[in-house]
Amino acid sequence: MLGDAWQAFLSDRLAQQRAAGLWRERPTLERPMRQRDFASNDYLGLACDPRLIEAQARGARRFGAGAGASHLVSGHLAPNHELEERLAELTGRPRALLFSTGYMANLGTLQTLGDRHTQLYQDRLNHASLLDGAALAGARSRRFHHCDLDDLDRLLARAPDGDRRLVVSDGVFSMDGDIADIDGLVATCQRHGAWLMVDDAHGLGVLGKRGDGCVGQRYGTAQVPVLIGTLGKALGSAGAFVAGDEPLIEALIQFARPYIYTTAQPPGVASATLRALDILATEPEHRVRLHDNIHYFRVGAADHGLPLLPSTTPIQPLLLGTNARVMAWRDVLVQRNFLVGAIREPTVPHGQARLRLTLSARHTLDEIDALLDCLGELAKHAPPEVREAVSP
Ligand SMILES: *Cc1c(COP(=O)(O)O)cnc(C)c1O
Repeated sequence: MLGDAWQAFLSDRLAQQRAAGLWRERPTLERPMRQRDFASNDYLGLACDPRLIEAQARGARRFGAGAGASHLVSGHLAPNHELEERLAELTGRPRALLFSTGYMANLGTLQTLGDRHTQLYQDRLNHASLLDGAALAGARSRRFHHCDLDDLDRLLARAPDGDRRLVVSDGVFSMDGDIADIDGLVATCQRHGAWLMVDDAHGLGVLGKRGDGCVGQRYGTAQVPVLIGTLGKALGSAGAFVAGDEPLIEALIQFARPYIYTTAQPPGVASATLRALDILATEPEHRVRLHDNIHYFRVGAADHGLPLLPSTTPIQPLLLGTNARVMAWRDVLVQRNFLVGAIREPTVPHGQARLRLTLSARHTLDEIDALLDCLGELAKHAPPEVREAVSP
């Protein structure tokens, strides 16, 4: 009987997911897509760079394939420590702390900073890991309208006296590609005595003079006390970090459960990331090529009348509206060997399904032209329900 109840529970949920057009699938790739990949976050083309691969192999030969234990037991190996020092330097902060993933960095940070006397303020479009972190913290959490500083200001003014206030925002919004107004967030936080936490997962390696992101060395810890960066996107490897002043980092080591109760990331991964940081510092041409590619794509998309969102980052979403439209366009692109993200709710709000196209330094102009031709053709010859998405 009980077994049947579980079967019914799961098959109902799965049937609903399918009926709503929300079925998620995992394409299995026999090898990395070196061409026509407009879905990954490998913005600088470093994930398959032979130098990172060699550094990872060398790190593994020297320190082992795995870290063997958590950081606090015996997993804090030399490359992991060196990487923390280099990340602190890159972001202009006294210290940095390595986490195994960005998801865990956000959970651990919010869990450590939040309690019943904490008021969290999150941009409506913040990454899922930030929203989940608020739940783990047991803090009161409110969401302000996307990039709306007046709305944030109103909410902050209503916080109970004595409560600590933490404002949390993505640096570059992962599904829209727009950049948070860091100046405005800093000023608003300072007016209300709030701390500011910025998750720069998609800005690191892409924005800033040195690739130090949308916060980086331009804002100190007095302005942005809590800075998150991830290493699996532009830096081409894996993991994440929190950067800030000594007391913050020490508190995370002492109290962040997603830091304490997990195996440290493999040391070879840290070795690969160290190599990526060398390349970031010495070869600005990858960043230049990335931004040239973004510009080239946007100009071409405008020529084809494609409904792009106004983003200047590698994330270039094409808003199509319904799940059915997005899946229809995605299917045609897949048939032509393009890899693109089909993003639906709950990742984005209902009715705002989109293709999430990402640009990389690795793309050639020919590849971008081929994508634009395919998208242009879809917009012109698509069945009526698709065509209406692109007409204003
Ligand atoms: C990808 C992402 C994360 C999660 O990082 P992982 O290392 O992939 O777990 C966190 N925050 C933002 C804004 C992201 O885009």
